[in-house]
Amino acid sequence: MNNTNPIIVAIDGFSSSGKSTMARRLASAVGYRYIDSGAMYRAVTLYALDKGLFDAQGNPDVEAVVAVLPDIHVDFTPQPDGTQHTILNGNDVEGEIRRLRVSNAVSSVAAIGAVRKALVAMQKAMGAERGIVMDGRDIGTVVFPDAELKIFVDASAETRAMRRFKELVDKGSQVSYEDVLANVVHRDHIDTTREESPLRRAADAVSLDNSGMSLEEQDAWLLNEFHKALNRG
Ligand code: C5P
Repeated sequence: MNNTNPIIVAIDGFSSSGKSTMARRLASAVGYRYIDSGAMYRAVTLYALDKGLFDAQGNPDVEAVVAVLPDIHVDFTPQPDGTQHTILNGNDVEGEIRRLRVSNAVSSVAAIGAVRKALVAMQKAMGAERGIVMDGRDIGTVVFPDAELKIFVDASAETRAMRRFKELVDKGSQVSYEDVLANVVHRDHIDTTREESPLRRAADAVSLDNSGMSLEEQDAWLLNEFHKALNRG
């Protein structure tokens, strides 16, 4: 047993369940790299929206999206405040990819098999040296089925929508709570029912319902799970 080897932490869960915040805070506490896999799906979606690859009903033109995949390069750059920004073909798109326009389209792009295949390959490469915390929908089931620590986060749709609503309002977006809730419910539906890697809890994941938890309680809980996983080695 060697408890100094870096491990992989996979955090999956529903939209706006607070996964990204907890993943980012854990990574910074333990000096690991943090990867927001959802940001990668959002960046591909933004590219497809800007190229006009959706029909009037808002559905992506699957063939056209697959055809432009080789032109899409997604990266992350660390910021002085400890967060990181998503870079799409050299441009900082961190603000753009969080807008409702992208949120409303992303799940249908993420349901395209070839998109998932391309992004999963990039995500696996990012974790090759371990020492990484990645959050998403299929991290513990598909991207890193051998992750030493898997967390599955859940909270009610209303709690999650209220969190996302406050975040968007804080950033200056003019949105209604009802629209944000409708988006959360819609994405839950697509994410859990799609054919390609639907959102589900890995059999060996630890579940967390963080509805009534403070950020500090959540940090302490996760750090404890992290140390247990490290010691299991
Ligand atoms: O995590 P976030 O809500 O930003 O992710 C945006 C969307 O990307 C999700 O609603 C989901 O459709 C998709 N996604 C995914 N697999 C991942 C991460 C995100 O399908 N690993």
